[in-house]
Amino acid sequence: MDFETHFSTRLAALKEEGNYRVFADIERRRGAFPTAGRHRDGEVQDVTVWCSNDYLGMSQHPDVVGAMVETVQSCGTGAGGTRNISGNTVHHLALERELADLHGKEAALLFTSGYVSNWASLSTLGSQIPNVAIFSDEKNHASMIEGIRHSRADKVLWRHNDWRDLDRKLHAAGDRPKLVAFESVYSMDGDIAPIREIVEVCEAHGALSYIDEVHAVGMYGPRGGGVSEERGLAHRIDLIEGTLGKAYGVVGGYVTGSTALCDFIRSFASGFIFTTALPPAVAAAARASIAHLKGSGQERQQQRARVAELRAKLDRAGIPHMANDSHIIPVMIGDPVKCKMISDILMRDHGIYVQPINYPTVPKGTERLRITPGPLHGTAEIDHLVGALSQLWAHCALSRAVA
Ligand code: PMP
Repeated sequence: MDFETHFSTRLAALKEEGNYRVFADIERRRGAFPTAGRHRDGEVQDVTVWCSNDYLGMSQHPDVVGAMVETVQSCGTGAGGTRNISGNTVHHLALERELADLHGKEAALLFTSGYVSNWASLSTLGSQIPNVAIFSDEKNHASMIEGIRHSRADKVLWRHNDWRDLDRKLHAAGDRPKLVAFESVYSMDGDIAPIREIVEVCEAHGALSYIDEVHAVGMYGPRGGGVSEERGLAHRIDLIEGTLGKAYGVVGGYVTGSTALCDFIRSFASGFIFTTALPPAVAAAARASIAHLKGSGQERQQQRARVAELRAKLDRAGIPHMANDSHIIPVMIGDPVKCKMISDILMRDHGIYVQPINYPTVPKGTERLRITPGPLHGTAEIDHLVGALSQLWAHCALSRAVA
């Protein structure tokens, strides 16, 4: 086989479809977020970032930066090994206690990312619980899909957020062991699962419940424990999974649950056992971020106000966006080439950075700009964004929503 020709033909096809991903060459600057620098013609242009998952700007918070710097000074950079072989530190253990407390669980277990936490946990549970069937919401994230696939457990898809469909499918499975995997906030549409109903169905069928709260931890609930905390349901969910890389502004992933469940994953998950532990400074920074957001609702309130302001202004301008109850505002374009073009023009002419979201991240025909307002965006920046989108809507002859 001519490998090089194969690679370049496939890449050319992606470009043709408008689905080729291009990195934005932006540079984050301490204290400036959501403003970033972009190198252009030998100069640095200021751009406002509107698509960051550093939802609350915690990557810049003095407590978080301070904890990371201090721990690098005292511990050095890398962990130096897996958790089991020389990589464990007091910082990892303290962070796991912090996470268990956040979700009101007995224990927690850290991973190097949210992706790995889903992949490793589901592949372990699916392969190590004899005859288990995994019931997966059809819109679950790739990390869950891959983990389930790798486990080789029987997988049953249920219709997105449709607890009645889940109920029917669990019923049809008889009395074998069952695990139900779903998310709280779905990242691309920003819709929120009917968690209470799903939990009740799980309880009725004796199924193990597994929720991904990656887009909700730090953001929802009085202490940032996610939608399960906000709705008073965390104690009824067996396993809560989250990330340290989005609202907490650092990197890493975790699961929380009973001591036995976490110890089981710790003991059998290759994605936990055979990889270097997170740097201690990362663990310390994440812990500082969680501790801050447990005690402070200010960032969450400010963010909610910004989300409401942007939605109202988009409505007034007739820019179509998907309705949901979360902080994610999907502005619908519906065409991959236009989506990329609008994103490029926003960056080039308006100093606005919103990455286009195309297939396969979202279904074809639902291409969009995924906008995530944060507490650090101001009214002037919101007005600038809506003004630029309005101009582009007219320019690209996109249809407007009825205001
Ligand atoms: N779950 C969901 C729902 C996600 O959207 C993502 C990442 N976008 C992950 C898990 C993976 O988390 P991380 O970025 O920490 O690997």
